[in-house]
Amino acid sequence: MIKAIAVAIRQNSEKFALIKIQLDRYDTLTNGFRSPLYCVMNIRIGNGYDVHRLVAGRSLILGGVQIEHHLGLDGHSDADVLTHAIMDALLGALSLGDIGHYFPPTDPQWQGADSIELLKQVHGLIRERGWRIGNLDSVIVAERPKLKPHINAMVNRLAAALGLEPDQVGVKATTNEKLDAMGEEKGICVHAVALLIKD
Ligand code: MG
Repeated sequence: MIKAIAVAIRQNSEKFALIKIQLDRYDTLTNGFRSPLYCVMNIRIGNGYDVHRLVAGRSLILGGVQIEHHLGLDGHSDADVLTHAIMDALLGALSLGDIGHYFPPTDPQWQGADSIELLKQVHGLIRERGWRIGNLDSVIVAERPKLKPHINAMVNRLAAALGLEPDQVGVKATTNEKLDAMGEEKGICVHAVALLIKD
């Protein structure tokens, strides 16, 4: 294959372009990367973090799933802290700023917004630039309630919103061992990462 490309470069650039397209297809089919340089050019990583206060009189929504609890998350939208952290990870991977830029908390149109719908909009920004999600991973830090029974529902909701398989969406939960504000149940925070792959 390398020999063939070298010959094509020597002959003319049109032929080289054709072989390059075939090479890209081959890599996609095999899920393999041909060289470290190829990896650097075609994947991106993004990091997201968000925190919201726990207050009375609000719903607790995580990953688009409403969870029974005597406290909920405070915020301008539905305060879905998991979905917000994932959105920031996606935006960060392409240096597109953060969710505050696209959905400012001062704008009345986002009051009570369904964060899953906002996530779909962020995903659209990624897709229209020719990138797709390889996988997501996240950690929810919450002392209470117990989140384990709700993890599958969150994974399925997020995966469906993004057109992913459930095994591409990692959602984990941990307590903060009663330490600091999260441990004192004053809030819930989430750390998320996203891997993007160029189409
Ligand atoms: Mg937020």
